[in-house]
Amino acid sequence: KIRIENVHKSFGELSILRGVTTSICEKEVTVIIGPSGSGKSTLLRCLNRLESINDGDIFLNDQSHSEISLQHLRQKVGMVFQSFNLFPHLTVMENLLLTPLKVQKTRKKDELIDLAHSLLTKVGMNDKADNYPHQLSGGQQQRVAIARALMMNPDVILFDEVTSALDPERVKDVLDTMKDLAKSGMTMVVVTHEMGFAKEVGDKIIFMDGGVVVEEGTPEEIFDHCKVDRTKRFLQKVL
Ligand code: ATP
Ligand code: MG
Repeated sequence: KIRIENVHKSFGELSILRGVTTSICEKEVTVIIGPSGSGKSTLLRCLNRLESINDGDIFLNDQSHSEISLQHLRQKVGMVFQSFNLFPHLTVMENLLLTPLKVQKTRKKDELIDLAHSLLTKVGMNDKADNYPHQLSGGQQQRVAIARALMMNPDVILFDEVTSALDPERVKDVLDTMKDLAKSGMTMVVVTHEMGFAKEVGDKIIFMDGGVVVEEGTPEEIFDHCKVDRTKRFLQKVL
């Protein structure tokens, strides 16, 4: 579980997060929606401390970020990006092994290879274990990136517009992989413009605008019965 309390983040004079308070519950899919520039990516990046926060606090399982080592935090909070971020000079298997071999020194390499194969199978990519990223489609690379995040056995995975750079016909493969992951009980925070996915898979929808949470609730509460005018106007544009 993640608790986000009154989080503020500025870049120089520019105030981007202006008091974000919300929570991410275990085994739930939390979907963050909102207009461009509303601070969605910045909030995600704060959750695994790719960005530091200026005020407020973030708790992971009731422990303040300030009490958790960066390495432990990154292990517990995985992230998948829009741009895959696989290492181009490493095979799929090597991409999966790189970080675990570095930080989980107690685990045997054979064990990690077995784990990698089973996770690649889970995302339908085991036959590509020895290929290089450039030999894969965008959607395939993204599924490898998801398997790579799972290698660390994280408590939660953050997804930032992971289907935005994909051809339409590849989007479904990645969304299906994410759906399977959700069904398996993984805690997920998903920033997306895919409203169909948000409705179908989301347990909780957070609508952000101007660096704050404007409204949050179940998909039904947000998509069918939202209370705030700003939410209504945004949804009219995107639905
Ligand atoms: P989008 O839907 O377009 O991805 P977003 O909601 O993810 O938007 P953010 O990426 O969080 O928005 O950006 C919010 C604001 O913060 C933007 O105005 C952006 O220009 C600014 N910003 C983000 N990162 C930085 C940075 N490192 N330095 C300066 N400004 C930044
Ligand atoms: Mg963004």
